[in-house]
Amino acid sequence: MNALPVASTRAVRARSKELIRDNRRELARNLLLHGLATVAGLVAPWMLGRLIQDAGRHLDTAAVTGLVICVAVIAQAVLERYATFGSVRLGEQVLAGLREQFVDSLLKLPLATVERAGSGDLVTRSTRDIDVLARTVQLAAPDALMALCTILLTIGAIVLVSPVLVLPCLIAVPVLWASTRWYLGRARPGYLRANASYSRITETLAETVEGARTVDALRVADKRMERLNQDIAESFAAERYTLWLRSVYLPIADTGYVLPVVASLAIGGLLYIHGVVTLAAVTAVTLYVQQLIGPVDRLLFWMDELQVGGASLARLMGVGEQAERPQTVLPAGRPQAVAAGGGAAAANGEPIELRGVSYAYRAGRDVLHDLDLVIEPGERLAIVGSSGAGKSTLGRLLTGIHQPRTGSATVGGVPLTALPLAELRRRVVLVTQEHHVFSGTLRDNLLIAKPTADDRELERALRAVDAWDWAAELGLDAPLGSGATRPSPAQAQQLALARLVLADPHTLVLDEATAMLDPRTARQLERSLAAVLAGRTVVAIAHRLHTARDADRVVVMEEGRIVEVGPHDELVARGGRYAALWASWHGRPEEVHVGE
Ligand code: ATP
Repeated sequence: MNALPVASTRAVRARSKELIRDNRRELARNLLLHGLATVAGLVAPWMLGRLIQDAGRHLDTAAVTGLVICVAVIAQAVLERYATFGSVRLGEQVLAGLREQFVDSLLKLPLATVERAGSGDLVTRSTRDIDVLARTVQLAAPDALMALCTILLTIGAIVLVSPVLVLPCLIAVPVLWASTRWYLGRARPGYLRANASYSRITETLAETVEGARTVDALRVADKRMERLNQDIAESFAAERYTLWLRSVYLPIADTGYVLPVVASLAIGGLLYIHGVVTLAAVTAVTLYVQQLIGPVDRLLFWMDELQVGGASLARLMGVGEQAERPQTVLPAGRPQAVAAGGGAAAANGEPIELRGVSYAYRAGRDVLHDLDLVIEPGERLAIVGSSGAGKSTLGRLLTGIHQPRTGSATVGGVPLTALPLAELRRRVVLVTQEHHVFSGTLRDNLLIAKPTADDRELERALRAVDAWDWAAELGLDAPLGSGATRPSPAQAQQLALARLVLADPHTLVLDEATAMLDPRTARQLERSLAAVLAGRTVVAIAHRLHTARDADRVVVMEEGRIVEVGPHDELVARGGRYAALWASWHGRPEEVHVGE
């Protein structure tokens, strides 16, 4: 399994800057509100300082001072409320944008990448990493920014009251700077390791649950348990490491921000005794330094959270890095999508050509060797061969899922893997035995194939595959999927076929598409399938040597090579590999009529 990539620190920083730039107005407004709230909060210590300085000598002004303090405190609370509301709203907005972008990237991931990466990594990224990022964007980032703003304004106030009293505060700087540097250098790799370990746990669990029957049948439950324990041990070690980092860093940081309070009192007291500063200044600065503890504490706490969030953002952005297919500009005059309704496509069909194609799942182990094949528009081609000969792999190359290691696979002269996904799917589609019904209405399930289709087009597609009767009875707005109407397997297959009619590709590659047909409904589904195949180029992969007799040509594969190509009768007459296969399969029930 190859895990999906993780974006670099530079890319994450660039994206964060971009987010700040895109939202600069709202950010500035929130910072201004928060700045005003902080300034209102700075009034009270300053007034208190003066009150202590006067020490009850001017009782008339004491009442006014008290009133001003009250007004300042109320103003601070009101301003803070609006500043917090604004930043939470901004956080939600940014998060929504990031989520949408992630889902977009996820949907654009090439199938081969998804298969290589394994579902665990993707599931962890879409759940845990999104949750972590939500906390960072909704809470950590806005609050850290507000805390920073408070710190800067409070230091500004200290300078205004008495520049010399800034010195005791500086005592904290080397302690905090050194410990924070030490921590940040180790935190990112630590959190990335922890996140990756969660991906592995999810992967192992998902694999074990999905393959529970196999695990049971092969009696490998202990081995799976052992593997899971190893994954948990690794996760435990990774968590313990980050916990250790925090347990070293946070106490030092705690000391770091208590020190200045002690220093302000001690050094400020000495300076007062020597007449360098007033009592009012010492009081105000000590209160300011005390006020700094909260925001410094929050800032340091969120630094940790920002690290975790940054690691999650890097993992989410990594998916985007894999998602992009090259955006090839198609030569002018190249046929675009054709109207819905099977049959129109063939006239616009384009030849699919493989030239000197080899392919390897793992470096150095080619499973396809030097294939040359041209599939003409409208042709019916059957691919046969023994198990593991490379038929499915060839089907995936023909549909642009895999990229040839050497040579070229083109449709109408354009490399299949260079076509934007939407373009590619309008030309060549792989049809497998998987007929997924998505949660949503019947209409939603069909619009996946052609979002612009109106109800009349949907009806035509459903009629084409003989599904209109039950679909009309159910209604296009009927919810399907878990917790709603569950279509029968035959109906699910018809839905999948109706989607093909709507997508209207000129070439279909059938990989065991009908192997799971229920014998009772097989006849009806074969009729539906025939309606979909009509007028298109069809490549049928016959895993169990279904009747290839009706195909225009049969391609025989052996150990990743094409060993024979030709019409059925010719190959049988030749007495070669196909003739031998045919002889051993002759008389078996026919499952796919490729040329109907
Ligand atoms: P079958 O009829 O059994 O499905 P096939 O002719 O379709 O076989 P492929 O599935 O294309 O054969 O497999 C060709 C070779 O590639 C086999 O040796 C197989 O083990 C290998 N292979 C297939 N899929 C993968 C994969 N995802 N990773 C690594 N090797 C693979």
